[in-house]
Amino acid sequence: MSAPTFTTLVSRWYQENARDLPWRAPDVSPWAILVSEVMLQQTPVVRVVPAWQAWLARWPEPAALAADTPAEAIRMWGRLGYPRRAVRLRECAVAIVQRHGGRVPDRLDHLLALPGIGTYTARAVAAFAYGQRHPVVDTNVRRVVARAVAGEPDAGPVTRPADLVATEELLPAEPAAAALASAAFMELGAVVCTARAPRCAGCPAESVCAWRASGQPAPAGPTRRPQRYAGTDRQVRGLLLGVLREATGPVPRQRLDQVWADDVQRSRALAALVQDGLVEPADDSSFRLTGDTPTPAT
Ligand code: SF4
Repeated sequence: MSAPTFTTLVSRWYQENARDLPWRAPDVSPWAILVSEVMLQQTPVVRVVPAWQAWLARWPEPAALAADTPAEAIRMWGRLGYPRRAVRLRECAVAIVQRHGGRVPDRLDHLLALPGIGTYTARAVAAFAYGQRHPVVDTNVRRVVARAVAGEPDAGPVTRPADLVATEELLPAEPAAAALASAAFMELGAVVCTARAPRCAGCPAESVCAWRASGQPAPAGPTRRPQRYAGTDRQVRGLLLGVLREATGPVPRQRLDQVWADDVQRSRALAALVQDGLVEPADDSSFRLTGDTPTPAT
């Protein structure tokens, strides 16, 4: 009998140890999986779970979101970060309604053609919602494959076509098993083969890992520093958006001027929010979330 492969070991481990995440339940819709993949790209699981549940309670189908305003999508996005994703997700819902009758498409080329849906998300939806065989390659998977297969300490800074090829070669031929393996690789990278402190001693793939076998050589280049947030334009954009999100109507510029003292940086941040389609001028002296309609007086 041949020795178990990396894919077999990791898939088996996943079936016994996968975290119980709500978007992994068997009856979850393709739309709910698509929303989870968009939210998870730049936000930790623990913050995504309540936001995902609230989002789907309000917009259980693409058509429901498509019928609402960008402003409401931005409000519901709350503090998940990178709020342009909310606007793009709504644009995606509109396209799903217009092009696919409100049903998330199952063809990879159709998924790739949707607004805001990139290489990773399209393949993730095709695999996890429709059980298809595609390499699903995020940062975690690239790192796992670089270590376990290539014996490298880490993957390069961006996804290359070679990463898709290297991952696809690991997938079983049968689509459902391939989709399971894709989820297993991601899970291993998220909870065991982490960037800073891989837990090799408890790893299901330890016996076949090339990096482990070669004595875990350290990376040749400098380690990447975590991105700074305090004082950045991103922080100022967050503060401005926070005021606009809480407002029930247009917000006077003087009110926005209070969130950050540096005029140049504040103006730049506001201009970026307008450019990104998150905010729009309501008139000469006030701003609102894009498409926002004032709350009627009661
Ligand atoms: S043995 Fe270590 S480096 Fe190799 S896949 Fe497992 S956690 Fe990652």
